Amino acid sequence: MHRGMAITTTDAGPGTRAVRRRIEPGTLSICTKCDERVKFIAREQGQQVIANIYVDGRWDRVEHFHDACYLELAKPYGEPKEDLARIARGRAAAAAPA
Ligand SMILES: [Zn+2]
Repeated sequence: MHRGMAITTTDAGPGTRAVRRRIEPGTLSICTKCDERVKFIAREQGQQVIANIYVDGRWDRVEHFHDACYLELAKPYGEPKEDLARIARGRAAAAAPA
């Protein structure tokens, strides 16, 4: 017997989520953990983690992390999703109607 399907994701607050994204040239974000700039380095495929933080169900702020720093913190906002825009582009090519 199921009494409703309440989804309890209150650990990090409703809506809080993290996304992993390639560091773009001109990025000026400061890493929340180490306080250093998340900067683009041409010869490295740098990754950053961008977290949208919700407090009491309302958007509060964005935090940026170096990918490695986010892992060192043991993923405080959960497993980072891959950049949805990039995934959507890949799917659009593969999902052409028959
Ligand atoms: Zn860092």
